[in-house]
Amino acid sequence: MTLTTPQQLEEINKKIEEQCAPIFQKLESIERHNQKKVLEAFQTAKISDAHFNGSTGYGYDDFGREALESVYAEVFGAEAALVRPQLMSGTHAITVSLFGVLRPGDELMYITGAPYDTLEEVIGLRGEASGSLKDFGISCRVVPLENETIDTKRVINEVSPTTKVIAIQRSRGYATRRSLSIEEIRKAIKEIKEKHPHLIVFIDNCYGEFVEKEEPCEAGADLIAGSLIKNPGGGLVKAGGYIAGREDLVEQCAYRLTAPGLGKEVGPTLNQLGEFFQGFFLAPHVTIEALKGAIYTAALTEAMGLSPSPKWDEKRTDIVQSVNFENAEQMVLFCQAIQKASPINSHVTPYPSAMPGYESKVIMAAGTFVQGSSIELSADGPIRPPYTAFIQGGLTFRHVQLALLNAAEALLEKKRVQL
Ligand SMILES: *Cc1c(COP(=O)(O)O)cnc(C)c1O
Repeated sequence: MTLTTPQQLEEINKKIEEQCAPIFQKLESIERHNQKKVLEAFQTAKISDAHFNGSTGYGYDDFGREALESVYAEVFGAEAALVRPQLMSGTHAITVSLFGVLRPGDELMYITGAPYDTLEEVIGLRGEASGSLKDFGISCRVVPLENETIDTKRVINEVSPTTKVIAIQRSRGYATRRSLSIEEIRKAIKEIKEKHPHLIVFIDNCYGEFVEKEEPCEAGADLIAGSLIKNPGGGLVKAGGYIAGREDLVEQCAYRLTAPGLGKEVGPTLNQLGEFFQGFFLAPHVTIEALKGAIYTAALTEAMGLSPSPKWDEKRTDIVQSVNFENAEQMVLFCQAIQKASPINSHVTPYPSAMPGYESKVIMAAGTFVQGSSIELSADGPIRPPYTAFIQGGLTFRHVQLALLNAAEALLEKKRVQL
């Protein structure tokens, strides 16, 4: 049918709410599990308001920062963690991790296909970025996924005497593939380490935190990294990233982040710690709100005849939802409608443009409190076939629902899709 009236859209909304209810119930049990884990970590570390005071200058003896890092380590099943406003983004946290543990002559093996766009220049797979891993004599071998699954046999065969780090990207990022579940990651790590126990397994954990009941270190990973303006910041953190894992590796990363010898001991937290703690406390809830939003987005766009991935009823291990549009125009219109339904900058219109670190023009709809925050509702993607917009985040499910209904109306008005 051709959708012409708001009532018809409302009927579809109601149907989708009913169809998603059982899945939402399952998500709430994950939320409860993770909320308990975080709560208990706070209690174990005896967090008090004195931990929020922060530090200035060198940031020596910042016991609030140390307590925060012990809470992160506990929740993520790691020995140690770095949680810092000086880690400026996910890309930066991953960069510090890789440069922290790799040395000239080593090989990095990425076993989940091409890494996230911004990492290609970090590694030296693209561009002439001076200071890439390649520039420092660290090579990278990319092993593609086989049927969207880690090709463990091939990985085991291709490991050479110089291979030092195995990298796994948990989330799909800007790719059109599945995200990888903790169970799959556990199995791959076990098989690879049986043959090559000396390898360091690094996980790009961006967008994955609190989506499942376990985190990668609990499944055998040695080192993980992510962004605080995604899931673990709970929407409150203004800037930052984290690295967690084996104590010796986290120490090496700290030497890279600050300076050899100084490591974790320095790093002023200024006035940020209260939000770091509170955001982490809220993160299990906010992540599930975003996840509900993603599932709703899949269901509604599918009803509109578009191609969402994953489908609304597929198992998930990240908060990213992609939707394929028929053309660039439709994709741009959709993202503009999301912007229009945002709390911040609803009056501005986003257009595709060049972005540092990205190869194609990118459109970014993000009416967010924190610049670039993708735990807040955002819709973006490189403008290239198959015109895939990546939609993620949402501090509250109801906001995502309103924004999606708004976008559906905008597309239907222009008669670019039929229901
Ligand atoms: C977002 C993301 C990154 C990079 O994080 P930024 O904070 O945007 O730099 C890296 N990997 C994956 C899988 C991501 O989703």
